[in-house]
Amino acid sequence: KGKRDGRGTFRFFQEEMGHAIKLRARMEAELRLGIGRGEIEPFYQPVVQLPSRELIGFEVLARWRHPERGLLGPMEFIGLAEETGLIAELSWAVMRKACTDARSWPSHLQLAINISPLQLQDRLLPERILAILTETGFAPGRLEIEITETALVNDLEAARVALKSLQNFGVRIALDDFGTGYSSLYHLRELQFDKLKIDRSYVASIPLGEDRAKLVDAIIALGSSLGLATTAEGIENSSSVDWLADQGCAYGQGFLFGKPVNKETTDGLLALWSDIAGKIVLTDSETA
Ligand code: C2E
Ligand code: MG
Ligand code: MG
Ligand code: MG
Repeated sequence: KGKRDGRGTFRFFQEEMGHAIKLRARMEAELRLGIGRGEIEPFYQPVVQLPSRELIGFEVLARWRHPERGLLGPMEFIGLAEETGLIAELSWAVMRKACTDARSWPSHLQLAINISPLQLQDRLLPERILAILTETGFAPGRLEIEITETALVNDLEAARVALKSLQNFGVRIALDDFGTGYSSLYHLRELQFDKLKIDRSYVASIPLGEDRAKLVDAIIALGSSLGLATTAEGIENSSSVDWLADQGCAYGQGFLFGKPVNKETTDGLLALWSDIAGKIVLTDSETA
């Protein structure tokens, strides 16, 4: 009886595995098709100067407009795209669309675009980015590339070469999710970044006055001693804005200033904001 149970369990396990594998294969096929059909869309989240709240640009965040499942966030497809190698094609499509969308926006506004670890291993990375900039007429000085530390673990030397060559063209490099990686200080020593983005898990704790707020303070100080600007991500309440600015944090991003929205909504907001003043300043009432 025990034997039969064991075999039954094994068969059940096999069926489950088979199911999971099929599901994955289907999702991969769907994603491949989706990329081809242009279902991956850039969304835009405002990045502002602190404490003035003047808009300096947007972070580009990918969304998948799935024909049946609706709008999907990166959690649902970036991992799969990375594991299947589809991330490169996906990312280039997002970058191309974003640089095209931004052509109709005020020319001082910048774009920050996320790059995955796999792309950083591509020796042609700088050339590919420059080709998209040329094709879309988007100035390199308006582009910032965001990389996470996980992107640096594989081949630091390759990353150094690629990033340096992009910087030579005027593209800025930001270290994203700072404070969540294994060896943040090591990477700061080994590579020349232009900006640090403080992970929102730290920023969220500021109003609580926890020890993490002290860490935010320390990260900002560390950045400034290395000549790096800092962006606080995930700002949700206005009470942390003045505190961050007082500590010397130059930029901020978060639901307080605006959630990521599509091109059409961004167009609408920009028209509205520009009407108010030549300088685009976001106030709480406009962004609530
Ligand atoms: P990230 O680069 O750290 O992006 C910031 C994430 O924080 C975004 O999530 C954004 O919506 C969210 N966020 C911003 N402000 C707030 C806030 O005030 N409160 C809260 N709770 N969340 C906030 P999203 O769009 O889900 O993206 C998640 C991650 O997916 C990104 O983290 C980035 O690592 C990755 N990702 C997004 N688009 C791309 C892409 O085109 N290529 C690659 N390689 N990765 C991408
Ligand atoms: Mg980012
Ligand atoms: Mg981040
Ligand atoms: Mg983050």
